[in-house]
Amino acid sequence: MSALEQNLKKAEAYLERFRRDGVLNHIAGEAVPAGDGATFESISPIDLKPLAKVAHGKVADIDRAAKAAKAAFHGWAAMPGDTRKKLLHKIADAIVVRAEEIAFVECMDTGQSLRFMSKAALRGAENFRFFADRASEARDGKALHAPGQLNITTRKPIGPVGIITPWNTPFMLSTWKIAPALAAGCTVVHKPAELSPLTARLLVEIAEEAGLPKGVWNVVNGFGEDAGKALTEHPDIKAIGFVGESATGSLIMKQGAATLKRVHFELGGKNPVIVFADADLDRAADAAVFMVYSLNGERCTSSSRLLVEASVHDAFVAKVVEKAKRIKIGHPLDPDTVIGPLINPEHQAKVLSYIELGRKEGAGIVAGGAAVDGPGGGTYVQPTLFTGVSNRMRIAQEEIFGPVLVAVPFNDEAEALELANDTRYGLAGYLWTSDVTRALRFSDALEAGMIWVNSENVRHLPTPFGGVKNSGIGRDGGDWSFDFYMETKNISFATSSHAIAKLGG
Ligand code: NAD
Repeated sequence: MSALEQNLKKAEAYLERFRRDGVLNHIAGEAVPAGDGATFESISPIDLKPLAKVAHGKVADIDRAAKAAKAAFHGWAAMPGDTRKKLLHKIADAIVVRAEEIAFVECMDTGQSLRFMSKAALRGAENFRFFADRASEARDGKALHAPGQLNITTRKPIGPVGIITPWNTPFMLSTWKIAPALAAGCTVVHKPAELSPLTARLLVEIAEEAGLPKGVWNVVNGFGEDAGKALTEHPDIKAIGFVGESATGSLIMKQGAATLKRVHFELGGKNPVIVFADADLDRAADAAVFMVYSLNGERCTSSSRLLVEASVHDAFVAKVVEKAKRIKIGHPLDPDTVIGPLINPEHQAKVLSYIELGRKEGAGIVAGGAAVDGPGGGTYVQPTLFTGVSNRMRIAQEEIFGPVLVAVPFNDEAEALELANDTRYGLAGYLWTSDVTRALRFSDALEAGMIWVNSENVRHLPTPFGGVKNSGIGRDGGDWSFDFYMETKNISFATSSHAIAKLGG
């Protein structure tokens, strides 16, 4: 039996329960159908066949979940940080034990390849460990002295929070948002993406089997316009942690206005990789190819705009083309596959329409440029590279969210900076140069929340993650996550008998 055949057999065994029982919501510790019994289907992008019927939650289901999260809040918030820490580590241990199951289910539900998803499951466990270790100190604050006065700041969890996640790497992203909320002492209502809801079910189950009290973590499946909207409008939900498209972020801000929701947005990107002639071009090419073609290009920090100094443009582009043409497109469970099918036919059509638009805008295709009839007949698209691109073309401005790269030449540093910043997004930037002074100068002026110099995206969890401009509001990682999920309070003590104004005698 080939490795793929063996993996398919295992995947079927892991999916069997979903095919039989569907994907239920999870409210107050119970797996429940939607109140009105409605379901929708989760379709695998590999063969476009249904994987499971999913509970279709709406306003009433969100209301039940928010009430459960509210009821559980005081107990969870009052639990000593050390106890929460132990529990969150137990969740991480259980994720590791079930990492294969998570990865296989994720591949079948999202079309992402196993070579990346097996690591994503383990990264999910790391997210829990990282925030578990900080749970004990989450409430700590500062002491601020003034003459005759001592101020003490302290933090408290904000309350029940809503977490809304996208479909591209749903397991990892859910852990990234939910682990700090729990570590901070918040309770959670999670609304997973409707296009890939399966692993959110595994995650909440794992957490409760590890001992998480009922009601602390609730999951309601459904669509953005019903379950998602209801969550952002619910008065008991104090904050919304959202990862998704910029346009959706804008809607959520409007929806949450009436209840004065605190929002944290991790949104889209059109991230430049800027390659100067003095860079190590082989390493830069490997990194650029990795950042745009891994995860099917369905990645917020994807290096989707390649800005190359004119003197090395053709040579550099040739390196990228050579690599892009050798990338294996295939079944996500084939261990050799790099690119699997895109999330669904609508998204495939969107990516292909951008490829067509690029042709119409006058850019040239030097790699890829078409759909692929891959295993299962799913939504595959070739890794594609456009040259002859001007930064004003729509393919250079809009987030395509697929394996499509556009190359734009520049003549000097000033032009590189202008092109790099000429976008409404500002999530990530990748800079390649051997001139350290230029690296400092350029990265200081580059409009992005995160910049990697001479590197692909290598995450260090204590560092801040987030974007500027239309790419986001707020930061995750390190203590930044706690700032979002907690309220800071200042308590001021008089330390001397200072003179108090005597009004009225
Ligand atoms: P999306 O915005 O369409 O959906 C994300 C989630 O929001 C889903 O769960 C959806 O049901 C929900 N939603 C939709 N409308 C809603 C509404 N009116 N109210 C409340 N919830 C609503 O995004 P997507 O297509 O699932 O994901 C792709 C996008 O996510 C890309 O733009 C990508 O760049 C972005 N993304 C950003 C990051 C980051 O960290 N910055 C990470 C991953 C993905």
